[in-house]
Amino acid sequence: MTAKEKIGSFGLCCITNKILYAAQGRYMIAGAIPFAAQPHDQDTGRIRMANSKPAIVEFENVDKTFSSGRDGTRALAGLNLSIKQGEFFSIIGPSGCGKTTALRILAGFEAPTGGKVSLDGQDITTLPPYRRDINMVFQSYALFPHMDVQENIEYGLRRKGLPREERQKRVAEAINLVQLDSHVNRKPSQLSGGQQQRVALARALVNRPKLLLLDEPLAALDAKLRHVMQSELKRIQAELGLTFVFVTHDQREAFAMSDRVAIMNGGRLEQVGPPVALYRTPSSRFVADFVGHSNFLTGAVTRIGSQPALVSEPGCVVWLPADPQSQTCTLLVRPEHLTLRTSAAGLGESISRLRGVVAERTYLGAQVSFAVDCGNYGMITVECTGPAAPATNFIPGTEVWVTWDRDVTTIIPD
Ligand code: ATP
Repeated sequence: MTAKEKIGSFGLCCITNKILYAAQGRYMIAGAIPFAAQPHDQDTGRIRMANSKPAIVEFENVDKTFSSGRDGTRALAGLNLSIKQGEFFSIIGPSGCGKTTALRILAGFEAPTGGKVSLDGQDITTLPPYRRDINMVFQSYALFPHMDVQENIEYGLRRKGLPREERQKRVAEAINLVQLDSHVNRKPSQLSGGQQQRVALARALVNRPKLLLLDEPLAALDAKLRHVMQSELKRIQAELGLTFVFVTHDQREAFAMSDRVAIMNGGRLEQVGPPVALYRTPSSRFVADFVGHSNFLTGAVTRIGSQPALVSEPGCVVWLPADPQSQTCTLLVRPEHLTLRTSAAGLGESISRLRGVVAERTYLGAQVSFAVDCGNYGMITVECTGPAAPATNFIPGTEVWVTWDRDVTTIIPD
């Protein structure tokens, strides 16, 4: 199927080198292939990004030292980052790691003290914010309280001096995109938090930027509304084929929405990749710990038969998935991959097993979490999900076996 046929099936009328209008009244970026027609990742459901996609944003050795304080604060320490055209890209990391600084430098609100930032091949390092084809959505929404929805969204277009007809067309499309058609004449105070966030989003999108930056835009919403808005953001980004750069504290939120996620630590990039890769093959203990819940098992490496394993007490064994680089190593095992049993008898040979005593049991509704004291290996967290979760058995004090398959074990690089 040609790209044109694919687009045709989505109801697209014509192709121009600007934003395109779909028959349903939604708009798209030129060359963007509709969401449903694109190859999807089986694990995440997100569009699989072609490696050949060009970079739209490049950070090259970007440094930022704030001069306040006696020695100054080095917020970015030689940040190198490349964001591809059309991807939903999130930046996460612990508080103070430099996420917001990176976003503000990209928007032009902060000047770096070193390095280079490019947008679509153009060096924008010293360009003022208003000369960058970038819009930003803030956590605080920053809507004008005395203007209604229509006026808020139209404001930027008025300042740019666009003709009335063009303004009205664009505003109507943006309102339709964020599904606020029945609220156009309301003031921000007459809208819910989620609706205000939609207005802020429409106000940014109406300018048709090359890049949309979102700084914790969902932080002020309650958990349920956050979830709805996550789906909405994903839908809008996929429909427009626009590049979104999203900063959040919330790893689950970033994973739910993003094609790729960057994990920052101390002003540098720790790892970047699709959520599945970060979760399954973290490049460091820091990443493994930051992404989801983790159990780390450290010990001396031995061989049992021809297979590498960690030394343990008789009857217990922790298999390694491959030969490690050194004589001691650290393994990662996720709590949801572990099983609690009363006996290890009859288990297959490739199953790792540790003896322990239940120290704590926490009922979480959909799952039950156990802390199991495994002696030399410390406290191991086990998460059991579904009707088989032993919510009533294994009370604290019960002697148990913690077991898991060799294939779900990951060696953490030193
Ligand atoms: P959070 O998740 O808490 O928002 P962050 O990862 O976004 O954190 P930044 O806001 O980028 O972190 O800050 C990085 C570092 O730079 C922090 O140590 C912060 O205190 C410092 N910093 C940020 N802005 C300034 C400023 N204007 N003046 C001085 N120091 C600053």
